[in-house]
Amino acid sequence: MSKSSSSAVHPIKSEEIGTQEENLTKPMSDLHNIDPELIQRMVYDALVWSSIHGLLVGDKSVQKSGKVPGVGMVHAPVALFPTSFPESHWKQACEVSPIFNELIDRVSLDGEFLQDSLSRTKMVDDFTSRLLDIHSKMLENGKREEIRLGLHRSDYMLDEQTKLLLQIEINTISASFAGLGSLVSELHRSLLNRYKEQLGLDSGRIPVNTAVNGFAEALAKAWEEYSNPRAVVMVVVQPEERNMYDQHWLSTVLKERYDVATIRKTLAEIDEQGVLLPDGTLLIGDQAIAVIYFRTGYAPADYPSESEWRARFLMEQSSAVKCPSISYHLAGTKKIQQELAKPNVLERFLENKDDIAKVRKCFAGLWSLDDSDIVKDAIERPEFYVMKPQREGGGNNIYGDDVRKSLLRLQEEGTEENAAYILMQRIFPIIAPTYLLRDGICHKDHAISELGIYGAYLRNKDRLIMNEQCGYLMRTKVSSSNEGGVAAGFAVLDSVYLN
Ligand code: ADP
Ligand code: MG
Ligand code: MG
Repeated sequence: MSKSSSSAVHPIKSEEIGTQEENLTKPMSDLHNIDPELIQRMVYDALVWSSIHGLLVGDKSVQKSGKVPGVGMVHAPVALFPTSFPESHWKQACEVSPIFNELIDRVSLDGEFLQDSLSRTKMVDDFTSRLLDIHSKMLENGKREEIRLGLHRSDYMLDEQTKLLLQIEINTISASFAGLGSLVSELHRSLLNRYKEQLGLDSGRIPVNTAVNGFAEALAKAWEEYSNPRAVVMVVVQPEERNMYDQHWLSTVLKERYDVATIRKTLAEIDEQGVLLPDGTLLIGDQAIAVIYFRTGYAPADYPSESEWRARFLMEQSSAVKCPSISYHLAGTKKIQQELAKPNVLERFLENKDDIAKVRKCFAGLWSLDDSDIVKDAIERPEFYVMKPQREGGGNNIYGDDVRKSLLRLQEEGTEENAAYILMQRIFPIIAPTYLLRDGICHKDHAISELGIYGAYLRNKDRLIMNEQCGYLMRTKVSSSNEGGVAAGFAVLDSVYLN
């Protein structure tokens, strides 16, 4: 593995890419004319490559596959070819990444803004309310996070009609697939090289993916800032996790490159084994924790009992670096996304006018359900909107005729429940034929893609240590599906072919 470069905003220089005519490479749109026999050979090679390089997930047909590593593994769902994406929009997405990182940090420091913006949501959404309770207690106690670590993924779709790169959301907790996403880019490069003559595609157009290296570097640097050589990084995990290899990739790079050890604990185990020392040190058994990296804790189902909430509260009180802190978690909610899109709100957090303009350019239409004109329009033309609750992990949004029905129901009931949702402009990306590979079977279908850009941010008080765009993840899903989660079974992992 090569060391990640510290300024890998754009790993491929435009001079190196040239135009398609110069390189005599074909556009990706020619894909549907490929010889089926060649496709079968590529599928076989992709399956072998994934198996021997660890591009794997737990197989849900094997019971123990979410608990025991090495048992019941299957290749991750992937696209057979990278997806074409305009270089200008790619650059735009990379360029705003550090600005979004800084924005999240600034928002996280404004406890009042977080509490006020979510105050109505709090009354109708128990989960958000519990998070806000922890946040309030930290404010009351005057708790400060001096070392702040953000490992984010900002997701975008390219709206076909307007040609605008629009942000879907930014994930500040448990942003996944840095590990497997990096591997998919390598898989695609390997396939394009092997079949260069037949395909005429240029593997150099797939940007180098620094996601896993960037995240590992940020975790290592956070560990270093904590400055207790005996302390470890704790990955907070679900009791069963079929996406464990993605997480193990990160832990492995962290160990091999930076010699930082990780332990894996569930929220229930942390409640059982966790102790807080008077100086704020978090001990799990007798092991001190330097950095807490959450890969769970973002959904109500992650807290089946009071035990899990006690664990979250215990960790928040500790001096360990939290990725994310409760403030970072709340700053990534959809309600905050919508509040930030209101006029003059970005100006509260960012000074630089160019930065503000760049961030704002990525904002799609976002509205609260207090906006009666928008609600009226959404009832009349629901296909142009998405209705979103304060949830993460895919499969929670409302689309199409259900938007109309839900809005009418909320109007009839006249309750405060509308504060649980936001409305968002529906984005319509280009639909392209794609080969999707899942469980060893290849399907050709019409698909749309969502580009995720990873960002790593680390600060210790006034000292900014890291603020970088690091790598990416393309996710591609059949165009008839509304939702896009890979783990939820809707999408496949993909990479980018710049054009
Ligand atoms: P989650 O936090 O659950 O991932 P998202 O806001 O990312 O929530 O929504 C889940 C999926 O729904 C996205 O990956 C995308 O496929 C689809 N989606 C979300 N917002 C929009 C939108 N405005 N237009 C079109 N599709 C959307
Ligand atoms: Mg999300
Ligand atoms: Mg999402």
